Amino acid sequence: MASSMNTDTSHSFSDDRVYPVAIAGGGVVGLTLALALARCGIETIVLEAFGRAAHSPLGGRHFMVSFGCWRVWRSLGLEKDLADLAEPVLGLSAVCADGTLGVRAEDGQDGSPLGYMIAEESLTKVLMRAAKKDTMVTFAPTGAVLAVEAGPFEVLLRMDTHAVRARLAVGCDGLRSVIRQSSGIRFEGWDYPLKAISAVVQTVGGHGGVARQIFTRRGPLAFLPLREGRANIVWTQPSAAADALMALSEEDFVEEAASRLGGVVKGARVETGRQAFRLGSHVADCFHGDRVVLAGDSAHQIHPLAGQGLNLGLKDVAALVDVVCDAQKLGLDIGSSAVLSQYTRWRRSDVVAVAAVMEGFSQIFSGPPLLRALAGSTMDLMGSSPAVRSWLMKEAGADTGDLPTLMRA
Ligand SMILES: Cc1cc2nc3c(=O)[nH]c(=O)nc-3n(C[C@H](O)[C@H](O)[C@H](O)COP(=O)(O)OP(=O)(O)OC[C@H]3O[C@@H](n4cnc5c(N)ncnc54)[C@H](O)[C@@H]3O)c2cc1C
Repeated sequence: MASSMNTDTSHSFSDDRVYPVAIAGGGVVGLTLALALARCGIETIVLEAFGRAAHSPLGGRHFMVSFGCWRVWRSLGLEKDLADLAEPVLGLSAVCADGTLGVRAEDGQDGSPLGYMIAEESLTKVLMRAAKKDTMVTFAPTGAVLAVEAGPFEVLLRMDTHAVRARLAVGCDGLRSVIRQSSGIRFEGWDYPLKAISAVVQTVGGHGGVARQIFTRRGPLAFLPLREGRANIVWTQPSAAADALMALSEEDFVEEAASRLGGVVKGARVETGRQAFRLGSHVADCFHGDRVVLAGDSAHQIHPLAGQGLNLGLKDVAALVDVVCDAQKLGLDIGSSAVLSQYTRWRRSDVVAVAAVMEGFSQIFSGPPLLRALAGSTMDLMGSSPAVRSWLMKEAGADTGDLPTLMRA
């Protein structure tokens, strides 16, 4: 049998082994899962189409990670490396352009940040470095998974020049997941006639660590703090308007953003090229199939207005690790439907609820002024109660409900 040496690690890929877990997709969700399973003694093999995920076409994103989800990396001992690359978010301001609705929050629980902003590229580098050093994580030769075939005791992941066998395959291969499609799991939902444009700017006067979001009827415009006075602008617009914004010069784009966001963007300089992302709302009808399970964007895509996609993916990882590690300790088959259905039950209802809330917000923000005014009064009322306010903050920070072990740190 052929065996191919991985140049970055001392351990090599062997195609005559049955690995305990094969992870398709070495993005943020896939790498975090590999590191987390390694901590409970479960060996994984990662199969990544682009080798270094930060080089994938989606690599230019920036994420706001809530304080609850950030604990996943703290639990894995990565917080020190990540803290140097992340900007703490100290405040949040979300308002409607016509002044009908406004939400403001200062810091999170016990004066800690509400969350952290971090670039996908920096995050992936830290995760990749840790995974390459971990003897429980093997990398298959770079290439895309083309199909998955489940048998009674193992699953086969076919790639171009080789195949990988495992007891369980995890699809962390993003929106167009081959693992999901190959397993016949339906991805139900719709595409929005919208695009989000993302750009990084260097501000003149700094941002004070405050994430700002302005809702217009055509879509939200976010200004998210990054390190060293930089900021990530994420501007959602109907597709034709977004294309027109993409066609503007960088100076005119900043002027347009400044005319809505005001002083914080005035005089800013675009640092990286703009990227446009198509948007949709989809949830897999089941998060597992025969010897396969889905985590991250392969299982769900939600409206990005509150930046929850990766946060949900990190919750998936934490829950899946609890389910798989407990099963392993009890000597159960980690690829069995009895084990994996616990994960679907735990995660799918949470994802459906978050997707519904995001859709509700999107309808309110793009709805008539009366609806926004009503929502505004309700939120004012709720915000005036310290107990309700504290619960809302915990909810937004992913710190409520049945928390998996990695999120309790
Ligand atoms: C503009 C924008 C802003 C966002 N901001 C936020 C935010 O602030 N906070 C937040 O929580 N979320 C945010 N999101 C959502 C977030 O980007 C995603 O939810 C998250 O990145 C999903 O991570 P993932 O690892 O599941 O998937 P991906 O990042 O898509 O990674 C999938 C990986 O699988 C690999 N792959 C794909 N197909 C194959 C294959 N066949 N074989 C092998 N490998 C394969 C890819 O190369 C990639 O490395 C935002 C999204 C957008 C579009």
